[in-house]
Amino acid sequence: MFDEKSVSLTCTQCSQQITKTIGWLKQNPDFACDCGQSFEAHKLIRRLEQGEKSVGKFVAGLRKRGK
Ligand SMILES: [Zn+2]
Repeated sequence: MFDEKSVSLTCTQCSQQITKTIGWLKQNPDFACDCGQSFEAHKLIRRLEQGEKSVGKFVAGLRKRGK
């Protein structure tokens, strides 16, 4: 099932790599890294649902939030 698919997220702040399942992300759409950086998982989920292929390269923090 889709919800059981795992995706790897890389934090832009601390470079930590975190692997979660889609189902977990749906239940925790605003989870943050240990360093406090938000992953905004709801945006990732939307991309997944749109058939985004490069999910594995999804990066936390999203550039628009940058400096
Ligand atoms: Zn981090």
